[in-house]
Amino acid sequence: MKRSVLEYLYEAADVCSEKIALEDTEQAITYGRLLLMVKAAGTFFARLGAGKRPVIVLSQRSADCIAAFLGVAASGNFYVPVDTAIPSGRFRSILDTLNPVCVTGRESCRDIAEKTGQDIPFYSFEEVFAADADEKLLKGIRAAQIDTDPLYAIFTSGSTGMPKGVLVSHRSVIDLAEQFTAVFGFGGDEVFANQAPFDFDVSVKDLYLSLRNKGTLLVVPQTLFIRPKEIVPFLREKGVTVLIWAASALQLLHNFSALDKEAPDTVRQVMFSGEVLPVKVLHYWQEHLPQARFVNLYGPTEITCNCTYYIVDRAFADTEILPVGKPFPNTEILLLDKEGAPVPRGEIGEICVRGSSLALGYYRNPKATQAAFRQNPCNGGYPELLYFTGDLGKYNELGELVFVSRADSQIKHMGHRIELGEIEAVLNSFPYIRKCCCIYHEEKKHIVLFYQTEEACDAKIRAQLLEYLPKYMCPTRMVWMKEMPMNDHGKIHRALLKQQYLEEA
Ligand code: AMP
Repeated sequence: MKRSVLEYLYEAADVCSEKIALEDTEQAITYGRLLLMVKAAGTFFARLGAGKRPVIVLSQRSADCIAAFLGVAASGNFYVPVDTAIPSGRFRSILDTLNPVCVTGRESCRDIAEKTGQDIPFYSFEEVFAADADEKLLKGIRAAQIDTDPLYAIFTSGSTGMPKGVLVSHRSVIDLAEQFTAVFGFGGDEVFANQAPFDFDVSVKDLYLSLRNKGTLLVVPQTLFIRPKEIVPFLREKGVTVLIWAASALQLLHNFSALDKEAPDTVRQVMFSGEVLPVKVLHYWQEHLPQARFVNLYGPTEITCNCTYYIVDRAFADTEILPVGKPFPNTEILLLDKEGAPVPRGEIGEICVRGSSLALGYYRNPKATQAAFRQNPCNGGYPELLYFTGDLGKYNELGELVFVSRADSQIKHMGHRIELGEIEAVLNSFPYIRKCCCIYHEEKKHIVLFYQTEEACDAKIRAQLLEYLPKYMCPTRMVWMKEMPMNDHGKIHRALLKQQYLEEA
């Protein structure tokens, strides 16, 4: 039984040390070299002190970031990928939550860490990978490893205005790698094309499925997603066999007709997740890759990527919704009503998840953890946690799970998970905002902000928001209100605002 994801790396370095493990546009790193880098970084971080603490990795789309992640794991700590484009206000709030051992990244990232003004040491990859490996130290850490120890934390949007750090254990990632491999049967010659940035859990699958199966992980440069037509020649040239991408990325290539000229026909499996993929987009991909298997994956970051899968095995009309299918082995899905009772077959309930895949909780946030990870109401016999996803689902007549909607104001916008409440909480901290409210226009994909201030000040709000929120969270439209409409309960009348906006738009 594996207790650490690093066992995959040790095995691969033993069996195929000359094989390319990681590749980006700058470098190709073999399994043998990767292990040396991980041992050096592991020694470096371990010498900084106590285990099971966070190390922030300022992440770009590069192979050395992955070596740093695994290096942090080898030190007995857990890594927290943070995008280098993070606004400084948001970074400060993450640092406050984490109080990390240190921050690491390429030398060019040093000023991002220093700009926060907080007294947290920064070490460059150049220093970290140059350390002399201390085999005895690393062996001791490995011997003490328990599979429930944390491996990484990924921050997601939080409705109170503070991002939440979802803390995931080695056990959950080992479970993910084993169940995916059992269901989809990856071979040793797989080339996984990584699309998702490393601070999104979609990328966790690329990394650990590749490592588990001794494959090659190819980091697709971000610039190609700005020029989507150049992606296909790149995937063909590299002989990519598996795409595990956000649904929004498949949609992007569809919107740019990027497969029209030629298809990436070395691809054998296309897996997508994150939001509902329109069937017309699926049809476009199927038409150009008739030999490939298509899989709809569903799940939130809190259950380690995905808890259900649907292998597309029949034809769908453009107007139909793809099911999210059935649970992975070692996972149970319960559909519960508001009282915590299972709903009758065919009726809508909240999707709740049970299994080794459950995250350990939100780091240093017991309130949010207790709200979402709760005792299974169907088990009165012993402690057993469920993760309450906040997603509503139902079973169709074929017994397949179908995602219906969110039960709250969480949205998916440009592939990002966003709590509208987080945007409102940040705005409400600005002294000149009297009242505000955000709604989402699904069809136009607009975040619309209604705000009440002395006078209209869109530009001022936008500039200030960008200090705290990434660009994709800033409202697409702003509507100044002299007076905000209120409902009978004295709350902002969101339904009315939404209805009026939809009518006018
Ligand atoms: P994230 O934690 O960023 O992966 O977002 C998780 C949320 O995205 C879920 O709780 C769902 O609301 C939504 N989601 C993920 N996968 C799917 C899917 N295949 N179909 C519909 N919604 C999805």
